[in-house]
Amino acid sequence: DLNLDPYWMPFTHNRYFKQHRPLDRLLVGAQGAYYTTVEGQQLFDCLSGLWCSSLGHRPARIVEAVKAQLDKADYIPAFQVASPDTFRLAERIAAVAPGDLNRVFFTNSGSEAVDTSVKIAIAYHRLRGEASRTRIIGREKGYHGVGIAGISAGGMVANRKMFAPLMLPGVDHLPHTHTLKEMAYSRGQPSWGAHLADELERLVALHDASTIAAVIVEPMQGSVGVVVPPQGYLQRLREICDKHGILLIFDEVICGFGRMGDWFGAQAFGVTPDLITFAKCVNNGTVPMGGVIARQGIYDTFMQGPDYLVELFHGYTYSAHALAVAAAHATLDILHDEGVPQRFGELGRKIEDAVHTLKGEPNVIDIRNCGAAAAVELAPLPGQVGLRGLRLFEEGLKRGLLLRYTGDTIAMAPPVITTDAELEKMIEGVRACIRAVA
Ligand code: PMP
Repeated sequence: DLNLDPYWMPFTHNRYFKQHRPLDRLLVGAQGAYYTTVEGQQLFDCLSGLWCSSLGHRPARIVEAVKAQLDKADYIPAFQVASPDTFRLAERIAAVAPGDLNRVFFTNSGSEAVDTSVKIAIAYHRLRGEASRTRIIGREKGYHGVGIAGISAGGMVANRKMFAPLMLPGVDHLPHTHTLKEMAYSRGQPSWGAHLADELERLVALHDASTIAAVIVEPMQGSVGVVVPPQGYLQRLREICDKHGILLIFDEVICGFGRMGDWFGAQAFGVTPDLITFAKCVNNGTVPMGGVIARQGIYDTFMQGPDYLVELFHGYTYSAHALAVAAAHATLDILHDEGVPQRFGELGRKIEDAVHTLKGEPNVIDIRNCGAAAAVELAPLPGQVGLRGLRLFEEGLKRGLLLRYTGDTIAMAPPVITTDAELEKMIEGVRACIRAVA
C-alpha cells in the first residue's frame, strides 16, 4: 500500500523514478554489504551507501555504541558546554591526521565542512593582516557539496549556473586533469602532473598571490567518477601554495578514514595540506557528521580571533551530536583494531586487477582506480548523455547490484568486508550490465 505520489522525490533522475519499477529501489533494511528492498530482494552495496558505509552496514560495535549513548544522553550542546567524548574524539582524529594538523571543528556534513574550511582560510589571512586574500581556487570537475562555498569552488558547472549571483567572488578553477586527450599525451611523462599543477602559477601571476586565500582540491576526485591525481600533481600544488603563502585544503569527504589505503588521502599521496575536510566514513555514515582538521595556528585565529566573542561566530546546533560522536568512537575502534586502512589497500589491489578486465567490453572508454575505488566510463548514447548510465544502473538492480552512476560513469567503492567472491560477482555483474546496454 505504498503511496508513491511525489510529496518527496529521491534525488537525481526524479522524473524517471515512478516509471521504472520503483519498488526495487525502495530500501528498508541494511546489513553488512547488502541492502534489502521493500520486496525482500538483497542488493549488494557497490558504493558503500554514498561512499560512507565503508565498514558495511550496522557493525555490531557501532550499533551498540549508539544505543548505549541514547541511554545516557541524547543531545548535548557544543556551545558553552560540551561532552568530554567530543574532546576525546577530536584528539583521536588529530592522532591519525597527517603532519601537524591537530585541531578539529565538527560539522554535520561535507558541505558544511567545506563552508567552514573556506571561512577558516579567509579568517586566517584576515586576522594576520592580509585581508586582501579572499580568492579561492578549485578544480574543474571538483565536487565540494552543495553549499554556496562548495558550488562556487566546485567545478560542476551545472550545479552552479543557476545561482551565478550568489557565487563567491573571485573563484577560479584549475583545469581538469583527466581528459582522454591529456592522458594519451601524458603516457610515459611522469612530470605531466606537475605541469598541470603549474596552471596554479599562472593564476597567481594573473591575480597576484596577495589576493589568494586557498586552493581546495579533492586528492582523488570521487563523485565525478574516481579521477586519479596525475603523478606529482598534489606535490606541485603544495610547493606553489607554500611559495606564495596560500593555504591548501584537501577535501577528504570521500578519501578520509581509510578508503585510499591510509587514514587520509594526504598520507596515501604523501602531501600534507593545511586543512582537511571530512565527513561520511568518520562514523560509517551512521549519524550525520563532518568536520575540518587544521593546524593549531590556523584554527586558533578562527576560533579565538582578536575579539572572538564580539566579532566572530561559527558553529552548528548539531556540531558533534552525541550520537554521531558515539558512532565515530566505535568506528575509530574498528578502524584501528581491524587495520581497516591497510585492508582497504589490499581490497584496492584486488579491485584494480578485477576492474581492468572490463577493458574491451562494449562502449567502455575509460577505466580508473584509486585506493579501494574504481570507475568505468561508458560512451554516451548519441545525444543522450547519462541515459546509458541510468540503464546500466537498472540492469544492476535486476542482477542484485546497487550501482552508482554519474552521467555514463559507474563508480564502485564497496565496503571493506567485501569477500573475493562478492568482488567477482560485482565485476561479472557489471560486465553483464555493460553488455546488456550495448
Ligand atoms: N566534498 C566531497 C569531496 C564530497 O564527495 C561530498 C559528498 N559526496 C561533499 C563534499 C558533500 O558532502 P555532504 O553531501 O555530506 O554535504
